[in-house]
Amino acid sequence: MRLPPGVNEKDFADAIRQFEEVVGLDWVFTSDEDLDTYRDGYSPYQGESEERIASAAVAPDDVEEVSKVVKIANAYRIPIYAISTGRDMGYGHCAPAYSGSVVLDLKRMDRIIEVSETNAYCVVEPGVNYFDMYRYLQEKGIRLILNLPDANWGGLIGNSLDHGNGYMLPEYRDHFGSHCGMEVVLANGEIMRTGMGAIPDSKVGPQYKYGLGPYVDGIFSQGNYGVVTKMGFWMYPMPEGYFRGTVQVPRHDDLHRLVEIMSYLLDSGISNGFSSVGAPVLRSAGVTDLEHLALIEKLDARNLSPEFEKYALRKGVAYWSGTLSFYGPVKVMKAQWEYAKEKLSAIPGATFQEGDTIRFPVGPDYFEKAGTTTGRTPCGIPTLTTFGQSIRGRNPTPTMGHVWFSPVIPRTGEAIFELNRVFGQYGAETGFPQFSPSSFRMPMDFLGNRVFLALFGFKLMADVEYNRKVRAVYREAARLGAEHGWSEYRSCASFYDDLMVDFSYNNHSLMCLHETVKDAVDPNGILSAGRYGLWPKHLRHMKDAKRS
Ligand SMILES: Cc1cc2nc3c(=O)[nH]c(=O)nc-3n(C[C@H](O)[C@H](O)[C@H](O)COP(=O)(O)OP(=O)(O)OC[C@H]3O[C@@H](n4cnc5c(N)ncnc54)[C@H](O)[C@@H]3O)c2cc1C
Repeated sequence: MRLPPGVNEKDFADAIRQFEEVVGLDWVFTSDEDLDTYRDGYSPYQGESEERIASAAVAPDDVEEVSKVVKIANAYRIPIYAISTGRDMGYGHCAPAYSGSVVLDLKRMDRIIEVSETNAYCVVEPGVNYFDMYRYLQEKGIRLILNLPDANWGGLIGNSLDHGNGYMLPEYRDHFGSHCGMEVVLANGEIMRTGMGAIPDSKVGPQYKYGLGPYVDGIFSQGNYGVVTKMGFWMYPMPEGYFRGTVQVPRHDDLHRLVEIMSYLLDSGISNGFSSVGAPVLRSAGVTDLEHLALIEKLDARNLSPEFEKYALRKGVAYWSGTLSFYGPVKVMKAQWEYAKEKLSAIPGATFQEGDTIRFPVGPDYFEKAGTTTGRTPCGIPTLTTFGQSIRGRNPTPTMGHVWFSPVIPRTGEAIFELNRVFGQYGAETGFPQFSPSSFRMPMDFLGNRVFLALFGFKLMADVEYNRKVRAVYREAARLGAEHGWSEYRSCASFYDDLMVDFSYNNHSLMCLHETVKDAVDPNGILSAGRYGLWPKHLRHMKDAKRS
């Protein structure tokens, strides 16, 4: 039997027996074969001694069982690590942040407690995944739309607790931001509800977030202060339609105005869906003449050649593009797009393309047409096609997963150029292809509208040396990013301490507060030790070395 660190064999055996009494023999897992299913399939340490592994897993069926399991763990000081659907691939998957923890697997708690069509919310347990909710809405003919991430076998609670996001209106696509009220089991096993839900007979728990007094929900996201057993989420009443329009602009310097105007359109709600910026002339795909290929071969992301602008103007190829999306009544979307075009026309030479207007509810013909993630997720239709892109399938060199280096940068054209100068230079020095100056990196999207999210994907391989290099480069890139005031919005356990150490303003005052709260609400330090660099007192030495 594997043992959690610091727990003796007899205590662990006693605790396991008690877990079994609570959840039943079938729902406590201790064999290596079972525990292998709780390994991080995308671990940057896969196959190495530092890979995080579970010592056991326990799968309760309701909140009372969760409470009893937590009380037992607290009595024996056994580290536990809660997961919901446990599919946070790229960000730790279902493995504990502290190796040897017992995984508290909440997948069996998969009840959809309530969906209100009139007031556009739902209340769910942690095991409810995006397919479950979609099916429920379809079967009951409920005209609400679920905002989805790309990988839909995850679930509403786990995704939101790791600050996951999707594609629709900003108030829904920030999944934690769209939650309203939660039920939490604390480290002593006590069951607590937040917001209006704290009133025993509350009628508005999933409708008004704050209740009265301090708002505490935030500490349960990317934190380790409790086990979340229910959450309310606001949902989007099915709109009449969805529409995307693209603007293209011809000159290098147009990026600044493009981002400024798009930002205005987003902040004022004129464009209310997901948006992105692109660089058609800096991409080899789509433009195929030899002159262009020669330019692309010489591309230096640190300092773009004026030849690109000349080429773009001469050939009528756009330098930059911006995509805006819209949800709502078709008439209104069209008017909003017209207004957006008017504003964007301030950039000389701007041209516009319009996508199809999709009308909800979408029928089977749409499923045929929009088989891919890009087509389906913005319409609230779950899919797993995103996994076919590079990981397995027909890929002749399948990887063993990936990690994202994804700094959040300011929403300006200048920040995009700076990102490329900084990481292009780093790539030139290290030769690591992810940061190569020969490809210009556009941010993936306007994260939550107000900032850009840059994405550098690192493949992981069944090759210890290669993965070691990935980790070293990732850490150095993170340090470099922090020097420029940028950090990740999310990461996997292998890098938590490296990243959290950068949030050091005023002698790490933020982490000091986190730790003070941790010591008060989880004095034995049993809950999700190490998550986002937050360690209980007795394990804090594990990251203190990095705090200088
Ligand atoms: C190809 C690909 C594409 C992806 N695209 C997206 C995307 O578009 N958007 C996106 O957001 N993500 C994306 N992901 C990442 C990930 O797959 C999803 O975010 C997924 O929803 C997270 O897994 P989950 O919902 O099962 O959460 P879980 O794995 O259950 O939870 C995540 C973490 O939250 C904490 N936690 C979970 N439940 C509880 C609880 N009840 N109490 C306390 N703490 C808890 C745990 O620390 C856990 O490790 C993608 C991944 C891949 C591989």
